[in-house]
Amino acid sequence: MKKSTPNLMSMLHQLIAIPSMSSVNPSFDTSNRAVIDLLACWYEALGFTVKVMPLPRQPHKANLIATIGPAQEHGKNQGIMLAGHTDTVPCEEKFWRFHPFRLTEQENRLYGLGTTDMKSFFALIIEAFKRFDASRFKQPLVVLATADEESSMEGAAMLIQETSLPVRSAVIGEPTGLKPVNAHKGMIMNGIRLIGRGGHSSNPALGLNAMEFMHQVLGELICWRDDLQRRYQDNRFAVPVPTLNLGHIQGGDNPNRICDQCEVHFDIRLLPGMDVQSLHDELHTRLKTLLAGTEIDWEFFPLKQGTPPMLTAKDSRIVKSCELYSHAAAHAVAFCTEGPYLTKLGIDTVILGPGNIAQAHQPDEYLELSSIQPCVDILAKLIAEHCL
Ligand SMILES: [Zn+2]
Repeated sequence: MKKSTPNLMSMLHQLIAIPSMSSVNPSFDTSNRAVIDLLACWYEALGFTVKVMPLPRQPHKANLIATIGPAQEHGKNQGIMLAGHTDTVPCEEKFWRFHPFRLTEQENRLYGLGTTDMKSFFALIIEAFKRFDASRFKQPLVVLATADEESSMEGAAMLIQETSLPVRSAVIGEPTGLKPVNAHKGMIMNGIRLIGRGGHSSNPALGLNAMEFMHQVLGELICWRDDLQRRYQDNRFAVPVPTLNLGHIQGGDNPNRICDQCEVHFDIRLLPGMDVQSLHDELHTRLKTLLAGTEIDWEFFPLKQGTPPMLTAKDSRIVKSCELYSHAAAHAVAFCTEGPYLTKLGIDTVILGPGNIAQAHQPDEYLELSSIQPCVDILAKLIAEHCL
């Protein structure tokens, strides 16, 4: 009756064969629904109760929550959640040696888009789960598969109203070389637009030069960055301060015309303990003060939903378990994950998965074959500890 899923290699082939790219650029964006339906089918066959949750703003995409083991009694159980995202970044096929949607085994590696970041993880969970008789579980095992991690993070963000996550601990299988990660920075991307008035350059009084006001705004941003770096430091990180990168600027059209509009885009990498909303408020106040009494129109806007920073206490049970089974100390990384959305739900979260972040978002993404068995072993130990 149960455990009638395909073998591991067949599952990996199928997961990679289905495109599930997400992008803020609609021409590269595809649905993840076919991957979700495939996972729903496999996990249901294994006896899991499966819930497919379409995203509110993009109903053609969905999250999946698969649960097995005793139902929740009082509040959260000790069980464990194994989580990941089903979408990948887009790819440019012409830069690939191998077909991105055909799993190719070569050089002791599995090549394909999503092999390491991170569709394979869902097949490895099944491989670990098959070692158990779930009727013996005393605590639940929950598998969470999200949509849109690589673009809007809407899949993770919608979990905020989710009550069917009856666990206190989670592991997200992003590529960390099977070493546990308990902290990462957050990221926000913002823009500032200044609107002045165009006019003939021969007489400055004919217009209001947005580029000249932008000069002041850039100065203020750099001054604010220095201030943030004085106020916040965290030596867990290779770059131990929050960063603010001026990444894009655009304005004006011609040397002999007064610049009527100028826009800058920048990102901020936040340390744990820094709050997205308070930072927005702080910058807004600074800009208001800076531009008060001028005629320039200005707008401060987010370019995409920000990701908060994550920090899970070193002495939490899940960090200790992951350190024990991976034989590695928990550490901090620079990339963002869906972890902070889970910690917000009261779930202690560690990032630990096969493959290396250096292979993610690259042509010829691959997963080392040698990382598969160790990963399955770690997952089986986590399930045994938290569910039996
Ligand atoms: Zn990822």
